[in-house]
Amino acid sequence: MKTIKVHVVTPDGPVHDSDVETVIAKAESGELGIMAGHVPMVAPLKIGVIHLKNGKTSEYLAVNGGILEVRPDKVTVLAQSAETAEHIDYDRALRAKERAEQRLHTQSNEHVDFKRAELALKRAMNRISIVEKRY
Ligand code: ATP
Repeated sequence: MKTIKVHVVTPDGPVHDSDVETVIAKAESGELGIMAGHVPMVAPLKIGVIHLKNGKTSEYLAVNGGILEVRPDKVTVLAQSAETAEHIDYDRALRAKERAEQRLHTQSNEHVDFKRAELALKRAMNRISIVEKRY
């Protein structure tokens, strides 16, 4: 099967480069499955998992938003953060989840930015889902 190049770039620099058969990503508009020869497009991504599939092997990246650009032979992901399971600090993610939940459960309080806490919770749960293999 033909493969497509995948580049994942964050503000810290490139974090992933590979050739895969399929890229499955969660765009704001819904789930996208991309293979070589896909029509060029740009799509904003949700906080979610990017699944890179090559035959029977798969790799998963926890991605914090960003943009996916598709060209016929290349997919580029520009994201604020992106980590594979081995780069995720599970305890840190659990602590981030707990902090965000505490903030969200605080009774109406002008010092709590609920939208910010909600996004932090999503990022933490996304990371946890990769480590726990609940994609
Ligand atoms: P925290 O509150 O623990 O910092 P966060 O969701 O606010 O979590 P981000 O702003 O998404 O963190 O990421 C900041 C940087 O820290 C990025 O480089 C990201 O890859 C890294 N990072 C955040 N959480 C983790 C984690 N659990 N494991 C590994 N790297 C992480």
